[in-house]
Amino acid sequence: MNYDAIVIGAGNGGLVAANVLAKNGKKVLLLEKHRVPGGVATSFVRGRFEFEGALHELCDYGSGEVYGNLRKLFQELGIEDKIEMVDVPEAFRVIATDGVREDYEMPFGINNFINKMEEYVPGSKKSLTIFFDLAKEIREAMKYLSDSHGKPDTKVLRAKYGNFMRVASYSVKEVLKAIKMPLKAQEILNTYWVYLGVPESKMSFVHYAIMVLLYVDYKAQVPLLRSHDLSLTLEENFKNYGGIVKYGSFVEKILTDENGVIGVRLSNGEVFNTKHVISNVIATNVYGKLIDFDKVPNLEKKKVNYNKLGARGFGIYLGLNRSCKELGLNNYSYFIYHTMNSDEEYKKMTTMDNDSMVVVCLNNALPNCSEEGTTILYFTSLYFGDCFDKEVTKENYYHLKNQLATKFIERFENVLDVNIRDYIEEIEIATPVTFARYTDSPEGVIYGYSLEENDVMLARLMRMYSEESVKGLRFCGGHAVRGSGYNSAYLSGELAAKLTLGDMKGGDN
Ligand SMILES: Cc1cc2nc3c(=O)[nH]c(=O)nc-3n(C[C@H](O)[C@H](O)[C@H](O)COP(=O)(O)OP(=O)(O)OC[C@H]3O[C@@H](n4cnc5c(N)ncnc54)[C@H](O)[C@@H]3O)c2cc1C
Repeated sequence: MNYDAIVIGAGNGGLVAANVLAKNGKKVLLLEKHRVPGGVATSFVRGRFEFEGALHELCDYGSGEVYGNLRKLFQELGIEDKIEMVDVPEAFRVIATDGVREDYEMPFGINNFINKMEEYVPGSKKSLTIFFDLAKEIREAMKYLSDSHGKPDTKVLRAKYGNFMRVASYSVKEVLKAIKMPLKAQEILNTYWVYLGVPESKMSFVHYAIMVLLYVDYKAQVPLLRSHDLSLTLEENFKNYGGIVKYGSFVEKILTDENGVIGVRLSNGEVFNTKHVISNVIATNVYGKLIDFDKVPNLEKKKVNYNKLGARGFGIYLGLNRSCKELGLNNYSYFIYHTMNSDEEYKKMTTMDNDSMVVVCLNNALPNCSEEGTTILYFTSLYFGDCFDKEVTKENYYHLKNQLATKFIERFENVLDVNIRDYIEEIEIATPVTFARYTDSPEGVIYGYSLEENDVMLARLMRMYSEESVKGLRFCGGHAVRGSGYNSAYLSGELAAKLTLGDMKGGDN
């Protein structure tokens, strides 16, 4: 069977890529190894609870009259009215426990955020204002770069986006210091570092500033009916555009000849022909398993060797038989750290001693997400490097995951002075092994490649037009150009599809 394009993997990136291609009249086949769409953007049921698989909060959507890039994309795809998004109540609560305990709760809205920071850190207002102005300029500059398709006019960049040019190659730590932000304000502002998985000394200021701006300015949202609803809506929309989805389809090989991609082969031997593949599967797997290594361009081999795998995921999902009010949980997201210094936190997360975490109480955004008198609470933590791999064995796996879950839950109870364990009705624990098995990601990585050094988002976007993989092959997903996150993965799907449409126009079809 011949297709204009084949998308491998129905995660967020793959679903959007498939939609955009099919909307443009292309004959598209979407292949997914599971029987449901979404990848980690899914939900699962245990007893009377439906748990969100991954999402804490979605960025770049927008609230009320405000349209973020993601909402614009959903509008273009005709699905904006088919899903219901709900605002998350506050930006975050962060607690650091070592030494003198620190506890800050930050609101959404730029002015609210700046004013609250001024309450916590008198004298921080000016630098926070500079930060948000800078972030807005960066947002505009990134739009210009994207519109200029890799060929920006440096005169325009210098004239209109001079501050962006000045900070573009610096880390969060360097820029916040340069704008003289008081250290305590820097630390509070950097709470979200864990969402990008890179500490402040290594994290690109451009990327972090945009992310914070999008959260604080547009607020964060969650879908009323969990991520599974988003994934199902995208899948149905794709089918309405004439797309074909085949579940239970594990792609074992991307077939190539001397001119590039010619098709894919499933593990059951079935072959589908195409000249264009968009891979929602990480490059490490594609170049390591799906394509014969001698067919991979040298530069791509080097790149994939150079890139560092990002955070490995650990999660605990709890269904509790008490309301969040009864439990004393009044916030939506709790960032529980030892210190407010992200470099120190990161270091700890390279060891099994790590017990820092983000805990989300879903009922505080979606009061009816579980029956009255119950609560859904989920914990996420990260491991960097191979510490989990070194510790886990076939024999100790169940013991280890129970031990880790106990450690995280106990710490949360102690820090918040609440009782959780007596009210657990359902518990599910996901380790890097779970994520590796579910998405086939190397070592259970949930953030793709680490966004650091030469591999930050801006550098990836600038290189994108000159780099060439196997002809006919493009990538989308949390491991692709924009980095991890729902919005990044969705938008990377749109980008990959548009580039593929360009390839087709260029005569490659
Ligand atoms: C616990 C957790 C919490 C998170 N919290 C947030 C959050 O609050 N906000 C946020 O924005 N982001 C969050 N993220 C990150 C976000 O979920 C991801 O960046 C995004 O969903 C990744 O999408 P993807 O397109 O890369 O697809 P993936 O979810 O990685 O899906 C890839 C798909 O490809 C399929 N596949 C793989 N190999 C093959 C093959 N050979 N053949 C066929 N199919 C294959 C897999 O089955 C899967 O369905 C979180 C992630 C996790 C795990």
